[in-house]
Parts: sequence; C-alpha cells; structure tokens
Amino acid sequence: MPLSPDQQAEIDALRAEPRPTLRAVSEGMEAHLYKAVPVLDHGFVRVIDYMGDDAAICQAARVSYGRGTKSVSNDEGLIRYLMRHWHSTPFEMCELKLHVKLPVFVARQWIRHRTANVNEYSARYSILDREFYIPAPDALAAQSTVNNQGRGAALEGAEAARVLEILKADSNRCYDHYEEMISQEGQNGLARELARMNLPANVYTQWYWKVDLHNLFHFLRLRADTHAQYEIRVYAEAICDMVADWVPAAYRAFEDYRLGGATLSGKALECLRRMLKGEEVTQETSGMSKGEWREFEGVIG
Ligand SMILES: Cc1cc2nc3c(=O)[nH]c(=O)nc-3n(C[C@H](O)[C@H](O)[C@H](O)COP(=O)(O)OP(=O)(O)OC[C@H]3O[C@@H](n4cnc5c(N)ncnc54)[C@H](O)[C@@H]3O)c2cc1C
Repeated sequence: MPLSPDQQAEIDALRAEPRPTLRAVSEGMEAHLYKAVPVLDHGFVRVIDYMGDDAAICQAARVSYGRGTKSVSNDEGLIRYLMRHWHSTPFEMCELKLHVKLPVFVARQWIRHRTANVNEYSARYSILDREFYIPAPDALAAQSTVNNQGRGAALEGAEAARVLEILKADSNRCYDHYEEMISQEGQNGLARELARMNLPANVYTQWYWKVDLHNLFHFLRLRADTHAQYEIRVYAEAICDMVADWVPAAYRAFEDYRLGGATLSGKALECLRRMLKGEEVTQETSGMSKGEWREFEGVIG
C-alpha cells in the first residue's frame, strides 16, 4: 500500500483547507495538489507545490506587466512557437515540486537528471520500511535478444514462479538481517548508515524533487519514451498526466513537437527530399549508417 491511513489523513487535511491567493492558479493542478498517485507496487508520485501556468509562460515571453494573456488562441500559438524554436527560458518560469516514493534502482536513473533540486529520505537517520519492488507478472520479462539494454517477453510458468520466489526471499532475508543488525536489544546495534548497505536495490526510498518545466519536459521526453526502462517510465507517465492538467497548452505543444515529433539530420532530410521527388533511396545510397537508416525508417514509417 503506497500510503498509510495516517499519511492519507494528513493529505485530506491539507486538501480540506483552501486558502485565497493572488498568485496564478491552475485549476487542473489544484485538483492534483497533495494527492498521491500510486505507481508500481509501493510507490507514488504526488504534487507538493507548483508555480505558474500556461499564461505565466506567455507573460515571461512577452515580459508583460499583467497576466500577459492576450487571448487563449494567441497564447497557444505563442507557446507552440516557443516550443518549436527551442526557446527554453519562458518554460523555466514554471516550477513543480513532487514527492516521489520509488525503488532505489529507479532513483539511480532518475538522479542522473541534474537540473532539479532533490532532498532524499535519510536512511542514516531513519529506519527504512520493509518495502521492496517485486515486479507484477507481466513486468517480469526475459532479457531481450535484440537489445542488450532491454527486455523481451514476460517469463512464464515455473521460471516466473521461481524468479518471483528468489526476489521475495532475498529481499526479506536482507531486511531480516538489517533489522537484526540495527537492533539494540542485548547489543549496541550497528549504525543505520552502515546497516543499510545490506539492502537490495529494489528497496523503496523517497524524495522531494523540484524542477522547472523546461527541464521537466526534457526528463519526460527521455523517461516517458519507450526506450526508457518500464519502472521509471510509469512514473514519467503519471507525471505527464499531471502536467497535461497543469499547463494544458504547453503540454499539447510538448506532445506534438517532442513526444510525437522527430529531429532529422541533414542527411536524413536530404533522403526525404529525394524520396518525395520519387527516387528510391536505400540504406546503401542514403549515406547513413545501418543504425541511422533503421531509426530513419522508424520515423517515416
Ligand atoms: C534510455 C536511456 C538509457 C540510458 N543509458 C545510460 C547508460 O547506459 N549509462 C549512463 O551512464 N547513463 C545512461 N542514461 C542517462 C543519460 O545519459 C543522462 O545522464 C540522463 O538521461 C540525464 O540527461 P541529461 O544530462 O540531459 O539531463 P539533466 O542532467 O537534467 O540536464 C539537462 C540538460 O542540461 C544541460 N546540462 C546539465 N548539466 C550540465 C553540465 N554539467 N554541463 C553541461 N551541460 C549540462 C545539458 O544540456 C542537459 O541535456 C540513459 C538515459 C536514457 C533515457
């Protein structure tokens, strides 16, 4: 269960106390504020705070005195222009602060995104919970035979059962030893900062993560992509849903230009022009490597 009844009560109390403000408010994001969206078996992501909305992006771009909104269609056009031309700073005017509970091996991938502010739960100070990520049967996949950095079809039958048993037993055994080592009953008890090294990478950690919208889009483009590992992708997808409600016009532009769009090299563009003129272009005549050609074919379908 991602939240205990006490934690849920704290969230409900926060949501029961609306306050008036002169600041820009996104109605879509207000609906998400504080609520935990479950991710994986024990994880969640929830919005702690945010700053700005679609209008704030336009306001910054125009350096205007008021809210900056000319008209909704004008604003949407401006946002699409900014996204199309990689103007990043107006998007940096919006900020998002999240509370995320995630397995340590997912946190290791996540923390590579350096343009955010992070504060993590201290396992030197506190005792970690007995919570481990154990993949659901459909996520328990075999090693891919075509991609060293990927997975293939789900394991089945006896093999799946054996793997699940190993994951559960190892996690619990390590946690038993962790508890045994830190216990102060009849012994000094090993320091928490040392005992934690015995815990596996599927143990859950938590952090507050604050990022601006430009860098968040960069994170989402990489981590909501099919090349990203499933276990981080599901977090990115949950955040995508929140961002779509927070800054709908900016998210639509992001979806169109970044998630749905593609960047073509000079060579690829030249091939496309030749193809449009009716020439049959192959990898051998394209000037592209096999890998580039495969990706180019993937883009143009
Ligand atoms: C599918 C996938 C597979 C991956 N595989 C591996 C792997 O095998 N091994 C591995 O080590 N990593 C891997 N990564 C991580 C990847 O290489 C990046 O470290 C990670 O995605 C963070 O990207 P970033 O640096 O662009 O993001 P951020 O750190 O958020 O930075 C955003 C942008 O800010 C700028 N920036 C930030 N810091 C600096 C700086 N110090 N100097 C200059 N510019 C800066 C850059 O333009 C950068 O793109 C993988 C990522 C993905 C999505």
